[in-house]
Amino acid sequence: MNHMTRLPVSLPARSPAMPDADACWAAFLARDRAMDGVFVGCVASTGIYCKPSCAARHPRRENMSFLPDPAAARAAGFRACLRCRPDEIGRDRLAVEKAVALIESAEEALRLEAIADHVGYAPHHFHRLFKRETGLTPAAFARGMRAERLKRALAQPGSVTAAIYEAGYNAPSRAYADAEQHLGMTPSAWKDGGRGVTIRWRVIDSSLGSMLVAATGKGLCRISFGEGEGALRARFPHADIRPADPALDVMAQRVVALVDDPAAGADLPVDVRGTSFQQAVWAALRAIPPGETRSYGAIAAAIGRPGAVRAAGTACGDNALAVLIPCHRVVRGDGSMGGYAWGLERKQALLAREADK
Ligand SMILES: [Zn+2]
Repeated sequence: MNHMTRLPVSLPARSPAMPDADACWAAFLARDRAMDGVFVGCVASTGIYCKPSCAARHPRRENMSFLPDPAAARAAGFRACLRCRPDEIGRDRLAVEKAVALIESAEEALRLEAIADHVGYAPHHFHRLFKRETGLTPAAFARGMRAERLKRALAQPGSVTAAIYEAGYNAPSRAYADAEQHLGMTPSAWKDGGRGVTIRWRVIDSSLGSMLVAATGKGLCRISFGEGEGALRARFPHADIRPADPALDVMAQRVVALVDDPAAGADLPVDVRGTSFQQAVWAALRAIPPGETRSYGAIAAAIGRPGAVRAAGTACGDNALAVLIPCHRVVRGDGSMGGYAWGLERKQALLAREADK
């Protein structure tokens, strides 16, 4: 489900031209809130004027005439309806607009009391009013604003974590929840399409078979065995994918050397996108010295999430940089080999080489 379409980042335009009398009457019959503030209906039999959404019983059509605003109705001798209070629409709209401006400019989440106080309304009343005008509560509106900001920040170069804080979130978990609800995807997935990113690649032979080596301008984004350009394009469908340049050739040579000497590549630049959890797992993997192994449970504990053993295993499986991020150094708690995305034989071979060093 796509929630983006109903995200109001701005209020509807105010005071569009007044519709013709038949349309006005139809709006009254429908009690159309969207027409409040666009015109008022004057009831000849009672001498009062109402806004279109007035909940009072409808007069007969022939008793009603329509005028553009309360001032015109008063000039024609009508009084404001005590039930729908048509004179307050302008004031309410201004208050909501002021609140929207405040929320948009706020660095962090504001309490309802603070927003209501800023516009001079009681919190409970303002909450209802805001929802009536925008279709969202102030809190939901603020979340939508932040999600929009996050979306814009993610479209810029830089890390996911930086984008999250830039958008005004205090914690990544909140950002992921909002992003899933408002953007329909997680921040990492948003970046994974590679939009706006140039990726250079080549396939190169290693002692454990052919390797795909690919990098953005910031660092390696894909190292894998047995893959080619098609796999790269499937993974980064929106990226500008180009053949290797001399800088990538140099990096690819170093990656191949890494297969034979896993300690050799510690300083290779990396540009992988993932959730904060995945990034933490991958960092923990890079901290395992060559020749040693860890269990999935030990990795989960190392990143402060001892209960997340299964998720840690999944994050290892999501590793995009074979050998450089040494997911091959993670084994099952019982000492058995566990899985490997690029084949168990390669995992065994890599571990055997490291044990010999
Ligand atoms: Zn009324």
